Amino acid sequence: MTYPTQPTASHFIDGVYVEDTRGDLIEVIYPATGKVIAQVHAATPAIIDQALAAATRAQKQWAAMTGAERGRVLRRASDIMRTRNRDLSVLETYDTGKPLQETLVADATSGADALEYFGGLAGAITGEHIQLGDDFVYTRREPLGVCVGIGAWNYPTQIACWKGAPALACGNAMVFKPSETTPLCALKVAEILLEAGAPAGVFNVVQGMGAVGASLVADPRVAKVSLTGSVPTGRKVYAAAAEGIRNVTMELGGKSPLVIFDDANLEDAVGGAILANFYSSGQVCSNGTRVFVQGGIRAAFIARLCERLDQIKMGDPMDETTNFGPMVSEQQRKVVQGFIAQGIAEGATLSYGGQVIDKEGFFIQPTVFSDVTDDMVIARDEIFGPVLSILSFRDEEEALERSNNTEFGLAAGVFTQDLTRAHRMAAGFEAGTCYINTYNLAPVEAPFGGSKQSGVGRENSKGAIEYYTQVKSVYVAMGPVEAPF
Ligand code: NAD
Repeated sequence: MTYPTQPTASHFIDGVYVEDTRGDLIEVIYPATGKVIAQVHAATPAIIDQALAAATRAQKQWAAMTGAERGRVLRRASDIMRTRNRDLSVLETYDTGKPLQETLVADATSGADALEYFGGLAGAITGEHIQLGDDFVYTRREPLGVCVGIGAWNYPTQIACWKGAPALACGNAMVFKPSETTPLCALKVAEILLEAGAPAGVFNVVQGMGAVGASLVADPRVAKVSLTGSVPTGRKVYAAAAEGIRNVTMELGGKSPLVIFDDANLEDAVGGAILANFYSSGQVCSNGTRVFVQGGIRAAFIARLCERLDQIKMGDPMDETTNFGPMVSEQQRKVVQGFIAQGIAEGATLSYGGQVIDKEGFFIQPTVFSDVTDDMVIARDEIFGPVLSILSFRDEEEALERSNNTEFGLAAGVFTQDLTRAHRMAAGFEAGTCYINTYNLAPVEAPFGGSKQSGVGRENSKGAIEYYTQVKSVYVAMGPVEAPF
């Protein structure tokens, strides 16, 4: 049986689609129906070798081009992506189940932003000159070589572009392995880059489970690994990369705090909590799932939050009025159900939702727990689903101390009208990205990444260039050589 979403073949290597049906079968399931919509095969060792060989060869040709030339290719790819936004968004919705209302504005568009931004920067990547009397040193900012990108399933197009665009801007080649749950979108990114003029082999996509990722990470041809995934996977990939002393960027999980003070604008604070917990059905790494609410605003906050959750339109993700989709998989829904059961068992108050929807697809209600305490599992572990926990606090010092009492450090947010308190909180949060009176915006111009166990390195912004290049110093002597004997 063929499906309209079936790709030409599983992998995209050296500018063409490639198949090897000896690889394990991966069925792609549309989360809104639970039905199979495509089949791909995991990469075999021969496919992995082919991809790395193509990237190794193409990287040299790509790096020999000027930054401006590379940038032009990336900006052309960005334009193509914007032109095809609707088709790409529909595919993203099939891949992930996220509502089309969301994918139309947050996925291919975000990927295009990254291609455009790093396309613009490519010509401005330079070394520096250091004068030492008559002698001098100049530095060359050089590409690393072949980079491996490994993606999570929540933003398949965006993750491929957030890794591919800076890597390519700097003159690297990439082999990208999407999540086995969402293998379709990255293939389109590879097609578009080729069409925009990237030499064959500069951006390759191979499919597979963790084992394929592990093979890529262990290969001596690989100079750098950039992973988006959970902390346990990050630990494994980081350790494997260390074996070969490879560079890493680790974009990992979180359990971020969102602190709402009594003086917050109620409507904005509720809106912020919704953005921090229920966008993409809660499957966002930076979500502010520990919502600390001060006593004076608590009752009004819970009442208004529940009122606004009543307005959610859950259903067919392809209907543009739908604003809440299913979980990405049956397995992920089970994980979320398990956490909800645990929250109830631990004595938290179920203030909203909590139920699985009795229809096809992996739907679950947006869920709010109140009276949550710091020691409960739902307040400590990353759930990666639409489950918001409300915790109470008395003063600023306590809120900050409890916010930081976690192994994670991806993001944090504060809602208050007090200007100096807002900045004190932002300075005190142990997190890579902080929000004042908003939440979960991730523009390409701003660095994004985690502190503590949430990761290493930064994506987006000028800062990402540091993570895809190495600096070489060249000492130039202008006088005679003085040797001791
Ligand atoms: P995951 O850790 O299960 O898998 C991530 C990727 O790693 C997948 O492609 C998987 O196949 C691969 N992988 C697994 N084991 C591997 C191994 N040993 N070697 C190499 N690759 C391996 O994560 P997921 O369930 O796909 O995604 C959800 C997680 O991702 C959450 O924890 C979420 O917070 C995190 N995430 C982080 C960010 C960020 O930018 N910080 C963004 C999105 C998601």
